[in-house]
Amino acid sequence: MIAGGLARCWRRVCSFDDVDRNRTSNRSKAAFPCWSSRIAPVFDTARDLLVVEAESGRVLSSSEEPLPSGPMGRKAARLADLGVDTLVCGAISRSMREVVDSFGIRVVSFVSGERDEVIKAWLGGGLDQPAFAMPGCGGRRRARVRGRFGGGDLGSCLCPVCGHVVPHERGVPCVQRPCPKCGTAMTRAS
Ligand SMILES: [Zn+2]
Repeated sequence: MIAGGLARCWRRVCSFDDVDRNRTSNRSKAAFPCWSSRIAPVFDTARDLLVVEAESGRVLSSSEEPLPSGPMGRKAARLADLGVDTLVCGAISRSMREVVDSFGIRVVSFVSGERDEVIKAWLGGGLDQPAFAMPGCGGRRRARVRGRFGGGDLGSCLCPVCGHVVPHERGVPCVQRPCPKCGTAMTRAS
C-alpha cells in the first residue's frame, strides 16, 4: 500500500502538477490531524485525520482517515496518497516537516483549537489569527520576536509525546534535553 502511495506520488510529480494546480487554484484539499474534537497537539504522533476538500471557501467533501504509525515517511506518503495539498497541524518535528515538504505539501504548523473552528478559519483564509496559535510555543510570531532581541532564530525543541515546546538552546541538541513535562527526549521542531 505504501509503495503504491509513493508510486502515485511520483506519477503526480512527473505529470505537470503545477499546470493542474493553476487550473484549479481556488480548490484545495487540506488535512487536519485530530485528537477527539481538537487539532492534535503533535502531528508526529497523531492517529486520526480529517480531510476536507474545498473550493472558494465552500466544503466539497470531507472524510475521516486513519493515519499510519511507524516511520514518518508513511504518514507523509498517506497524505500524498489522499491528494492533500495542505497540512494544518499543531507542533511538528523538523524531520517530519522535511518529509512532508518533500511531497510538495504545504505545512501550516503550530495551530491549535477546536477542529471545526480551525476548519472554518481555514475556509475563510483566517488561520493567521492569534486565536489559533499554540500557547507558549515557537510559532512564527515568537520566532520573529526572538530575532528582534538579538537572540537569533534558534528554533525550538518539541516533545514528540506530549507536544510541549521549549526554545532551542544553542549547542545543546534537542535529543539531549528531556521534556520538562514528561521526561521524553525531545526532538527539533520545525
Ligand atoms: Zn513531554
